[in-house]
Amino acid sequence: MPSDDAQRAIPLVGAGIDRAAHHRRDPAWLDKAFASDNVRVLLMRDGLPLVEGAGPPATPQAIGAALPPGRPILWLGPQAGMLAPKATRLFLGETEKGSPVFALNLAGSFNLDASPIAGLGVFEDFRIAAGGMDAFDSGAAATARAIFEWHRRHGYCSVCGEQSRVEEAGWKRACPECGTEHFPRIDPVAIMLVVRGDRALLGRQAAWRPGFWSCLAGFVEPGETIEQAAAREVLEESGVRCTGAVKYLFCQPWPFPSSLMIGLIVEAASEDVTVDKTEIEDARWFSRQEIADMMAGRHPEAFGPMPVAIAHHVIMAWLDQG
Ligand SMILES: [Zn+2]
Repeated sequence: MPSDDAQRAIPLVGAGIDRAAHHRRDPAWLDKAFASDNVRVLLMRDGLPLVEGAGPPATPQAIGAALPPGRPILWLGPQAGMLAPKATRLFLGETEKGSPVFALNLAGSFNLDASPIAGLGVFEDFRIAAGGMDAFDSGAAATARAIFEWHRRHGYCSVCGEQSRVEEAGWKRACPECGTEHFPRIDPVAIMLVVRGDRALLGRQAAWRPGFWSCLAGFVEPGETIEQAAAREVLEESGVRCTGAVKYLFCQPWPFPSSLMIGLIVEAASEDVTVDKTEIEDARWFSRQEIADMMAGRHPEAFGPMPVAIAHHVIMAWLDQG
């Protein structure tokens, strides 16, 4: 049966930008591009993107809570460079029309209300804002957040302990003492819907909003394949053994801080559940109809993940197959 999984629009998956990595090592070109009239600059402070709108930022939501409407990025022009001359500058690439695109990581002390752009935008919770962004905006913001979080956590050389410096337009850190080059890391996460016939296994963590259920997930460990990681996590968290049949659907950059979520459907060999309470609060099987009701908001006591999360799309892909 033909599948439209590859065409499914996954939030935070960017589009419409050429990373143009050959420019990263050309400081003169970067300076000129950053000052050009057609430059597009997004601002980020403490991992929060600057978005359009004068209203107060939304309060961060509990995991599993319905998110308020998102807002698009407030793109600035060449004047952005004057707001925070010392901010870390990241070259994101070029638009299809050739406009250079940058992100600036502002210090936590940056006072928006006292700045020349007061009243034009707000620093918004990332997950909430992303709901109002198109693929270009959300891909740019997700890339910027992941890179800036990496800089924040990797200021010192992991080989010799010396303070490292930012190079290559934000895409590298270099150690002046031992010469080691450091590059951004990605943490692969297997996130899977475990299925058996017409039923699927969902889990929930104690910290989540009551009634919220989602896919099981876990980091791929060194020495493992994605498929092995998926089967191990399912067994560890729920006690359910998998047959080894795994279908890859699609993936999603998830900059909290540096995950790549790998969406899978895996087949269970049995339905016996033994929950490891140190990992999750509960896991249980739901019928296809129950899950369809959860995703449509019709289930009396349970609901599923919001569209910003890849888990939502993994579940919808399985429902579509039915
Ligand atoms: Zn070093």
